[in-house]
Amino acid sequence: MPTPRDLLSEAKAAIREVSTDDAEQHLGQVTFLDVREPEEYEQGTLPGAVHLPRGNLEFQVEGKLPDKSAPVIVYCAAGVRSAFAARTLGQLGYKDVVSMAGGFNRWKDEGKPWNTPRTLSADQRNRYQRHLLLPEVGEVGQQKLLDSKVLLLGAGGLGSPAALYLAAAGVGTLGIIDMDVVDASNLQRQILHNMDRIGERKVDSAKKTLTAINPDVDVATYDVRLGADNVLDVIDGYDVIVDGTDNFPTRYLVNDASLLKRIPVVHGSIFRFEGQATVFAPYVGPCYRCLIPEPPPAELAPSCAEAGVLGVLPGIIGSIQALETIKLLLGIGEPLIGRLLAYDSLEETFRTFNVRRDPECPACGPNAGPIVIAEYDELCMPHRSS
Ligand SMILES: [Zn+2]
Repeated sequence: MPTPRDLLSEAKAAIREVSTDDAEQHLGQVTFLDVREPEEYEQGTLPGAVHLPRGNLEFQVEGKLPDKSAPVIVYCAAGVRSAFAARTLGQLGYKDVVSMAGGFNRWKDEGKPWNTPRTLSADQRNRYQRHLLLPEVGEVGQQKLLDSKVLLLGAGGLGSPAALYLAAAGVGTLGIIDMDVVDASNLQRQILHNMDRIGERKVDSAKKTLTAINPDVDVATYDVRLGADNVLDVIDGYDVIVDGTDNFPTRYLVNDASLLKRIPVVHGSIFRFEGQATVFAPYVGPCYRCLIPEPPPAELAPSCAEAGVLGVLPGIIGSIQALETIKLLLGIGEPLIGRLLAYDSLEETFRTFNVRRDPECPACGPNAGPIVIAEYDELCMPHRSS
């Protein structure tokens, strides 16, 4: 019957160990895997380490470390559990695994860098449980969402469902820009608002609804008209812009400003029974001007107020915008970059069309001049620095 000491020698013979000094050379470049228990991890860990307790290793490691050929440095408190963990990883097909001798305790005693990891509170663990169950989101992803800032242009038909779902998902900062007040005719589709809010500023009504859903969300409101004088200041610092505006001059203004600031825009639009959504990733995919170089004549582009829009339809497109936003924030899946999604509610069909960057685009093309932010007339042509 082998003693624990025998088992350890056997494990150590099957793996490679590195010193804390050697491991430190790779900090920030190689994955460090912390296999200690949650209580130990919460007291302090190596910066950027992936945490997976030894007991969950076999069943969860593939979700946390999908690339089996990438180098991994495993550590525990003193180098015993990590030796066993390194051997298990080797058996699971990981090609380049080492165990850090002396573990976190030696690392800390030597004055090497460590920090106290941010962890979700018990309330947050409960609230975001369905996210935590997805390895593609998990605690790291949820923290990312909580740290994210999303700007919603409009608290109307598209902005309402987008804001509700982003708040529910725990996006930590939501900016909302809208200068309208709530009118009874909005309630057919703008589900952020209600009867008690008629006459109230939409941004205030939105803030009340969103903070009532999730206290983790900080709502910043802008009761202004988005214009050339303020657009760069308003969008500054946001990770993603959700565009729910319904007029061409604002879309072009936002397009040019977002190219300048390199902020992706999740675009949505609705008309009668149909809707569209796409993602404009600056200089990666097409921009709004690549798709629509100039606005159609006003008589061919009636606004929702004139043309009508079926209830529920903005809920579908706005929800798709919220989902695309979350994918961008988490860096998962295939966002609608270079693809236009078109939805027909009467046929109940979704179609996607590939859309390309226009090499002649006056805003993002290789020969485009410097972007100048200025008010647009009805032609919305870019302004030249002359
Ligand atoms: Zn373009």
